[in-house]
Amino acid sequence: MRTAKTLFFVCILNILGFSASPADPNADANHIIQVALQPSPLEANLRRLTDEVGGRVPGTLAMQHAVQWGMQAFTAAGADSVHAESFEIPNSWSEGATDMTATTAYEVSPTRVGGATVLSSFRVRAVSVAWAPALAPVRHVPVVDVGEGSDAEFQKAGDVTGKILLVHTTVLKTWADLFAEYANAPPIVDRAIKAKAKAIAFMATREHDILYRHTNSGAGEIDKIPMVVVAREDGERIARLLADKNLVWADLSIPNQIGGPIKSSNVIGELRGAEKPDEFVIVGAHLDSWDLGTGALDNGCNAALVIDALRAIKASEVLPRRTIRFILFSGEEQGLLGSRAYASHHRAELDKAAGVIIYDSGSGKTTGFSVGGRSDLVSSIKQLLAPLAQFGVNDVETNMEWGTDHFDFMLEGVPTFVAEQEEANYLENYHAVSDTYDKVDFPQLKKHVAEATLLALELANLDQKIGPRLTHDQIEQNMRESKSVEMMKANGIWDDWVSGKRGRQK
Ligand SMILES: [Zn+2]
Repeated sequence: MRTAKTLFFVCILNILGFSASPADPNADANHIIQVALQPSPLEANLRRLTDEVGGRVPGTLAMQHAVQWGMQAFTAAGADSVHAESFEIPNSWSEGATDMTATTAYEVSPTRVGGATVLSSFRVRAVSVAWAPALAPVRHVPVVDVGEGSDAEFQKAGDVTGKILLVHTTVLKTWADLFAEYANAPPIVDRAIKAKAKAIAFMATREHDILYRHTNSGAGEIDKIPMVVVAREDGERIARLLADKNLVWADLSIPNQIGGPIKSSNVIGELRGAEKPDEFVIVGAHLDSWDLGTGALDNGCNAALVIDALRAIKASEVLPRRTIRFILFSGEEQGLLGSRAYASHHRAELDKAAGVIIYDSGSGKTTGFSVGGRSDLVSSIKQLLAPLAQFGVNDVETNMEWGTDHFDFMLEGVPTFVAEQEEANYLENYHAVSDTYDKVDFPQLKKHVAEATLLALELANLDQKIGPRLTHDQIEQNMRESKSVEMMKANGIWDDWVSGKRGRQK
């Protein structure tokens, strides 16, 4: 146990920088880790956010309450200052009472002379895909199976004008499956639009009737064709009927409510740097979530982590030399809109950014950090992560990851560190009705608080920033070397990068 006197000594050492610590280079790190692991309001904060506020879609009252929750929690954790910064999302969107019924015709006693054809109907459990357009009620529309929606399968299906397309999917088991699910959807949507289909019904990638919400539109704009996710069991039933030459029709109503531009807010709590206050480290996680569940794994637990990291730094009494900005982003689920707005609004000061740490993969064990294509950072980050080997944090990935809030900072050339985590129970509950407080592994989450706390302080206290801000050409070279150009093109980001609409300016 440390005495107050030793703590003071540690503070002095840290003002001078980590490397100045004489006897035991790991003493400071272990002290910080121990403080971060102490009991804290982490659980209570997350319980309020998930059970009381609930699912948090930008544009809703719940999202506004979540912003207030974030501001209060940062204040209670001891932030030097707390504020919100607003940005615009092109459209508001909320689901109405989506309703789908399937009807099939079959022969009663087909072997007996005089057997009759009868109709049977069953309710299909379905939810609208997010930011998809509404569909006024339609009745008795033929359903066509287009397999997994490839070009060849569309051709085989023939004329699908005005029909509802059933798209097969595979059950989600790995991170690669998840990236594939996102990558597969846009071309299927394009084919369906070209073929003049009425709507798309994606089979859920989760079993046991679990429904979840996705968006296939990239930047908060309304998509071009009505789409639902149907329970896997219902989708398979329809597919079997169609395969057995039964006709299947659907009644479908998707009364989504869609409006014009809305404002949402990022929440920022700050610890001011003692020596270089204009230089800053960001520790971030998104606060928004989908609304079928309560957004506990994605990403409430990590929003609570960010707040707890601020509390832990205060409790450690170690003074950061640079400022640390703890940021809860909004609009992540609609296309990284909050972090994109933040990176763009703060572009002029990003030369002063000393690193961006992001957590966005539930509470599965952290195995390492992804450094966004920056092989120049590998040896320094390995040194910084050494005290975290006790938690199994060892790997440094140099791929240019996409899909969370570091992305626009990476495109601005700022060093980014995304926690790489084991899948644990993240994928089965991903964006689903089952993403609730009870799924969070708190002992593991506390370790992540310690990791984020230590890494943030280390980045804030290095003599020199861990790495420079890259130029446009250097970032593009990293994109080519890490074979990320195809990913950028597939996600519609390449053109924006080339035209200078997004990322570091030439
Ligand atoms: Zn997320």
